Amino acid sequence: MMSACPDPLWPSYRAGARLTVDLDAIASNYRYLQTLASGASCAAVVKADAYGLGIERVAPVLENAGATDFFVAHVDEGIRLRSVVSEKARITVLHGPRPGASGDCVRYGLRPVLNSLEQIALWRDEGSRTGALPEAALQVDSGMSRFGLSDADLETLQADKGLVDGLKVGLVMSHLACADTPDHPANQAQKDRLLQMSARLPSAPLSLSASSGIFLGTDYHLDVVRPGAALYGIAPNRTGPNPLSPVVRLQAHVLQIREILPGEGVGYGLTYRPDRVRRIATVAVGYADGFSRHGAGQGCAWFEDIRLPILGRVSMDSLIVDISDVPEGKLGPDMMVDLIGPRRSVDEVAEAAGTIGYEVLTSLGHRFHREYVGNQENPSRGD
Ligand SMILES: *Cc1c(COP(=O)(O)O)cnc(C)c1O
Repeated sequence: MMSACPDPLWPSYRAGARLTVDLDAIASNYRYLQTLASGASCAAVVKADAYGLGIERVAPVLENAGATDFFVAHVDEGIRLRSVVSEKARITVLHGPRPGASGDCVRYGLRPVLNSLEQIALWRDEGSRTGALPEAALQVDSGMSRFGLSDADLETLQADKGLVDGLKVGLVMSHLACADTPDHPANQAQKDRLLQMSARLPSAPLSLSASSGIFLGTDYHLDVVRPGAALYGIAPNRTGPNPLSPVVRLQAHVLQIREILPGEGVGYGLTYRPDRVRRIATVAVGYADGFSRHGAGQGCAWFEDIRLPILGRVSMDSLIVDISDVPEGKLGPDMMVDLIGPRRSVDEVAEAAGTIGYEVLTSLGHRFHREYVGNQENPSRGD
């Protein structure tokens, strides 16, 4: 099924590179997070196509691992998710109802997050149109100034009970701005604000923490935790080794190998010129695949346990690495090197490019041959 296969028609030969997504690692990360937050229920955030990894493949695996609560950003994402999870799955739409799409929330059984008085009014209108108003979540702004009801909004709601009467509030939530920095004072402040603000709203389960927040301790778990990134192997903070299992591996084919002499130039702008003879390889991943041009300077690939520094600029479809440290004859054209893999985490690739693992994952393009491994209960072909 998905074992290593030397067949020259193996689809990654037609593409430039192979992206392997380990579904068992996603399931095991889910179980790990649920155990860590065992006093709360663990939802799964699958917005942005499950962080670029493919919601159709990833969401059923999370459901098998025990997730019943899913979060997406948009109504469209919720509709797409609805068709790949069971009817029991609850789908919450973080951006909430929008004019023209609130009916779709009802039609597809999506629970919207109401982030403003306008969205509360829109949802109430939807209720008067359809007769009964399904459950919604409410978000309060506990200090990030991004989404949610303000103190002034809560006053308005308290002054006019008619605004919340009849709303079925299934969750009151907020979001931490600095959870990846465990001793940041904003964490405690935001938690206190959520507790204060929620006391002014209909009583409902509370949710504050995404991936990093789970690692702030049980105080931050409340009733529901909402990890996304950690499910996909991204480190929750920089305070120690990453306890999560890596999920993706990106291997690219070597297209060509050559030797260059001192003073010769490499790549666009000839920004790299060696001071001694170098053996270099052109590799089939470029910025159009989501491998950032900013990642070149500090970046590298790996071949087995040998580090291959990236030389010069990243092109659209390829990049060039230094393979001088690989014993001659060991790495030939059409063999593969790792750009993300056992020796190079998503977080390291991100750091080299001056960004975060989230952006690396969600930028990974669709030109790769994608292979899904694991999930033996629901095996299916990888292409
Ligand atoms: C994206 C998002 C999450 C998941 O965040 P991670 O850091 O990926 O775990 C949770 N809640 C909200 C509101 C989000 O926008």
